[in-house]
Amino acid sequence: MTQLGTETNPLRVAIIGAGPAGFYAAEHLLKQNDVAVQVDMFDRLPTPFGLVRGGVAPDHQKIKSVTKVYDKTASDPNFRFYGYVELGRDVSLDDLRRFYHQIIFTTGAQTDKKLGVPGEDFPGNHPATEFVAWYNGHPDYRDLQFDLTQEKAAVIGVGNVAVDVARILSRTADELAKTDIADYALEALSQSKVKEVYLIGRRGPAQAAFTTPEIKELGEMEDADCIVLPEEAELDPLSKAALEQSTDRSLLKKVELMQEYSRRGRTSKKRVLVIRFLLSPVEILGSMEEGVKGMKLVKNELYSTEAGTLLSRPTDQIETLECGLVFRSIGYRGVPLPGVPFHEKWGTIPNINGRVVKSQDSQEQVIGLYTAGWIKRGPSGVIGTNKPDAVETVNMMLEDMKNGITIGPEQPDRDAAAAFIKAKQPRCISYNDWLTLDEIELKKGEAIGRPRLKFTKIEDMLTAVKK
Ligand code: NAP
Repeated sequence: MTQLGTETNPLRVAIIGAGPAGFYAAEHLLKQNDVAVQVDMFDRLPTPFGLVRGGVAPDHQKIKSVTKVYDKTASDPNFRFYGYVELGRDVSLDDLRRFYHQIIFTTGAQTDKKLGVPGEDFPGNHPATEFVAWYNGHPDYRDLQFDLTQEKAAVIGVGNVAVDVARILSRTADELAKTDIADYALEALSQSKVKEVYLIGRRGPAQAAFTTPEIKELGEMEDADCIVLPEEAELDPLSKAALEQSTDRSLLKKVELMQEYSRRGRTSKKRVLVIRFLLSPVEILGSMEEGVKGMKLVKNELYSTEAGTLLSRPTDQIETLECGLVFRSIGYRGVPLPGVPFHEKWGTIPNINGRVVKSQDSQEQVIGLYTAGWIKRGPSGVIGTNKPDAVETVNMMLEDMKNGITIGPEQPDRDAAAAFIKAKQPRCISYNDWLTLDEIELKKGEAIGRPRLKFTKIEDMLTAVKK
């Protein structure tokens, strides 16, 4: 056999998960001038793009145009897509080891963190991740129900996901109709009775995880006011001191915006979004029969750690917030993959710079396995953050290849792999199939003046491409 990474013996790589991290890893692998690489990308859904399709808010269409870059990567003759093929259900890790020298896991973070307070299981208390997947038309979540007859809803957490959820709850039907929100979600949200939405942060305005453009957008909604309580927009002495030393202009702008919102009163707009600070839920009120009725919240104060980070701790002041819907948005969490090491506490695959290790403690490399994106580093950063992250992993892969540290597959042959995968999942989807689905969605959207009308049922997607 000739040297690995040459035209006659290309490096064969399987990428599990067709989100941004997977595509950035593919892009970097395929642009190597001195190494011949073939990439096969798998996704359990027939559609690619992970959170760009199922997570990015539907009223943020511009962000979604990043998929043009992924289309370009997918047009490389050395790239193949196997949609609707799930690791564990259709193919096993040992199956993949027969066909690939290296395997990268880029499966993101599919579940969420829990609050760990009493009442968390009451109907009406939902993970924000599920609401996001529902309104974005993710087939696994399309049948969920959210009781939008409630007038008051609360979102726990003040990250950008919490802001997305609060904004989608506050938008008018007309605003939502301009987006690619799932058709059933548009219908349900058009009938929504929600009038008051509360965003609840455990620390203060200067520590909020949301970013400035996202918070500015909240102040510009068609029929919803965005307000902050004056006493909560006022910085405590520790935050004030920290801000005075900060050179982060975006942070200063964010705090200024919070203070501006605190000077705004209610207008004649139908809805109100209230951002609250220094509060933590200690109990969800209600019952299994009647669902969520409200939340008991403890007022927090800030203290400084030795490292200078300002954290929250509870005081003895308790308040009750009446609400019939709660969305917890306190961070996504990865799920384990069959046969792949997993760090239970962090919800990530243990790795060193992208090289999978047996456990975080052992540091022993699992030959041929790599990871990138949220399942590698945890759920942080924006879409673009996944690019350098994936490049780091690919550089480790190329270094290992040069040092002869790869899986020794029995059949490193793309046609043998294709035949095997098709035998295991005859209805698998190619990238051309996806482009057909994409075109149908765009055309259907155009016909009704929307950017896209999404397929939300797997069976409909497969039928549309005659699978
Ligand atoms: P995040 O940015 O990490 O925010 C999590 C929020 O939950 C923080 O406010 C955090 O407060 C709070 N939290 C955590 N544990 C809590 C607890 N036990 N009780 C109460 N609050 C708690 O996570 P995310 O909003 O899920 O977003 C994930 C990533 O995607 C972020 O990097 C985000 O910027 C990105 N994203 C970007 C966009 C965009 O660019 N438009 C949109 C969506 C998501 P503390 O700060 O006090 O821990």
